Amino acid sequence: MSASRPTSMSPARSGLTSAAKARRTRPRILIAGGGVAALEAALALRALAEERVELELLAPEPQFWYRPLAVVEPFGGGRVHGLELAELASATGAQFTLGALAAVEPAEHIVRTAAGAEIEYDILLVASGARPVAGIDGAFTFRGPADSDAFGKLLAGLAAGTFKCLVFAVPGGVTWPLPLYELALMTARFGEERGLAADLTVVTPEDAPLAIFGAEASAAVAAMLEQRAVTVLTGTYPLRFAEGQVEVAPGEAIAADRVVALAQIDGAPISGLPHDRRGFIPTNEHGRVDGVDEVYAAGDVTAFPVKQGGLAAAQADAVAEAIAAAAGADLEPQPFRPVLRGLLLTGAALTAAEPADAVRVKVDLSSANGGDL
Ligand SMILES: Cc1cc2nc3c(=O)[nH]c(=O)nc-3n(C[C@H](O)[C@H](O)[C@H](O)COP(=O)(O)OP(=O)(O)OC[C@H]3O[C@@H](n4cnc5c(N)ncnc54)[C@H](O)[C@@H]3O)c2cc1C
Repeated sequence: MSASRPTSMSPARSGLTSAAKARRTRPRILIAGGGVAALEAALALRALAEERVELELLAPEPQFWYRPLAVVEPFGGGRVHGLELAELASATGAQFTLGALAAVEPAEHIVRTAAGAEIEYDILLVASGARPVAGIDGAFTFRGPADSDAFGKLLAGLAAGTFKCLVFAVPGGVTWPLPLYELALMTARFGEERGLAADLTVVTPEDAPLAIFGAEASAAVAAMLEQRAVTVLTGTYPLRFAEGQVEVAPGEAIAADRVVALAQIDGAPISGLPHDRRGFIPTNEHGRVDGVDEVYAAGDVTAFPVKQGGLAAAQADAVAEAIAAAAGADLEPQPFRPVLRGLLLTGAALTAAEPADAVRVKVDLSSANGGDL
């Protein structure tokens, strides 16, 4: 894509005649979202476009939550504190507005919020994330910080001997299973430290544990699971949990006392923008929304199949480059390059800033040539 200039600075082009728009000397970039993609875009835009753009952040919650650390909370590894979005926005010189993007009117260059307010934009970036939904009936779904306390209660039950057979299930369609392996490995460690007779199993449709990172990384994770006596059932879809049985396909049901599953991720379509069958927004490699001028999307909201924070940030960077170039910054916008990096928390030193036996992995999904450890 060649980044187009924000011609919407001319009021005649958009059809808007408001005095405010006519007075604007810089394009207004409206970023809908307050997660990884939105914040990365705001930071990158300010760095690349400097004072050439006005920034506004629109999000329905006043705080940013760093979800990857939610897995350590139940093990006493600290609390995930929400960071004030107004403060983060102000650090990038952006205005923060509380509200949910409900609809876009591309021809008018305005968005409508769920509360009915209208906000003008010259360029819109949609970074409103996806919807976590339960993927396995009867299982406890771990979605992030909101479920840390409930998982802590589950651990207390394991420690008290209320049950001992725990299955960790990756539902079909989950492309970022890493948090489930972290929970399984840390639960195994929790059991070892207390001398519990816990019986732990991971059930996953993957061909091998964390197969997305390639053979070498996957073998290292498999060895770690074996060392901690966690059984792994690969190539298996967990379907539902009832009466002490996990129904799976293919194969016989598995006995379990409790089942912990990751959430499946559904799209959350925005009226006025295109979306695929599952509700995700299709974009080109610079993040521009298919068929809609001056509207971009980044992160879990897009149709890119792997839903992961590092990739969300890389998409946001590609969008920021395209917008900064359009605003007159001297740079050649680079397309989104999907390099997947992971840090697997395994529970050796839960209170340390970076656990001693955390495993780092990296793979370039555009070449898909395996992972580095
Ligand atoms: C338990 C768990 C652990 C994870 N661990 C990792 C990890 O270790 N590494 C990693 O890279 N990824 C991890 N992920 C995935 C990662 O959290 C997501 O891929 C990432 O947060 C996506 O970023 P995003 O900005 O697209 O969406 P989100 O982070 O979901 O942010 C969406 C933002 O948009 C806001 N919003 C929602 N609706 C609207 C609306 N209508 N209008 C405006 N704003 C709206 C939300 O309030 C939120 O601020 C993990 C996920 C989970 C659940």
